[in-house]
Amino acid sequence: MRVAAFSIKPYDRESLAAASVGLPLEWVWLEPRLDRDTARLAEDAEAVNCFVNDSLDAATLERLARLGVKLITLRCAGFNQVDLDAAARLGLAVTRVPEYSPHAVAEHTVGLMLMLDRRLHKAYNRVREGNFSLDGLLGFDLHGRTVGIVGTGRIGRRVAEILLGFGCHVLAHDPGVDKALEARGVRFVPLDDLFATADIVTLHCPLTAATRHLVGARALSLMKPGVMLVNTSRGGLVDTRAVIAALKRGHVGHLGLDVYEEEADLFFTDHSGSVIQDDTFSRLLTFPNVVVTAHQAFFTKDALDAIAAQTVRNLMLFQRGAPLEAEVRA
Ligand code: NAD
Repeated sequence: MRVAAFSIKPYDRESLAAASVGLPLEWVWLEPRLDRDTARLAEDAEAVNCFVNDSLDAATLERLARLGVKLITLRCAGFNQVDLDAAARLGLAVTRVPEYSPHAVAEHTVGLMLMLDRRLHKAYNRVREGNFSLDGLLGFDLHGRTVGIVGTGRIGRRVAEILLGFGCHVLAHDPGVDKALEARGVRFVPLDDLFATADIVTLHCPLTAATRHLVGARALSLMKPGVMLVNTSRGGLVDTRAVIAALKRGHVGHLGLDVYEEEADLFFTDHSGSVIQDDTFSRLLTFPNVVVTAHQAFFTKDALDAIAAQTVRNLMLFQRGAPLEAEVRA
């Protein structure tokens, strides 16, 4: 089966090729992002494989369907980039990789918290320049602090477990209460109460129409002065302009982002030799108390291997006409 793989980086190619050794899969490795213009590159492919910033809107899906594509496999857990109604109408099956490594994202999330709290980003540069002063590096103990986790699915649950280990008070908000977490001491509370009580707010819910700009001016106004906000979920959960205003007022004390609402034109590419045109993003990078990583939370060898294994498994199931795993429906 011919599979057109978009947004492919050398590390994706390596893991997918290794997972398909000896299998009847003919990969077409494509560096461009999938959108309505690049969809034509999937010619003669029966399946398409893509990632978080590929655009699978109705027009793109219609073009893929016209080319004979029948299956879309996502190399990620999130599926907010897919118009699922259009996919259903066109008879395109869509699969994702729901649980490749919740540990990877959860551990990166806690890494951002520690980096911001203990100013490790500043300390690293300072020591290399021969400046061993501690002025400006004062942090706080995570032990005893209150952390609010929005979304206790696979990743949020793991973040809660790690932070319980640090001795934090863990609050959570999720439409479904996780009884096992509750039994371990996590308190499920209404969202506004979480915002008002937490010293650290971390986002782990999906991006949907209902959660877009979940953290905007109103939510920020409820949060404690000096709050730490961490988002490793999806950029659209946070109204970046509102957060910048809150950072300027000193209301947000620390901001850790692995995702950004307009990341599609920036992340996963080397822009070091060019001028960044996104002024909002550039402003974020000027704050001493902001750390941005470029959607790397998932990026561990364990996660890449698991993504490749699940992707190849679904391609083979599809080829055999067997029921698919982790199919996403409207
Ligand atoms: P999941 O589906 O296992 O869990 C999501 C949880 O959010 C569920 O428990 C759900 O009930 C809850 N939820 C839904 N709406 C909510 C709301 N309005 N308020 C609070 N909770 C709500 O998903 P997951 O695997 O834990 O992934 C979480 C997020 O992390 C996803 O958005 C995914 O796209 C993102 N992610 C990011 C990276 C990265 O590299 N940065 C990697 C993987 C996943």
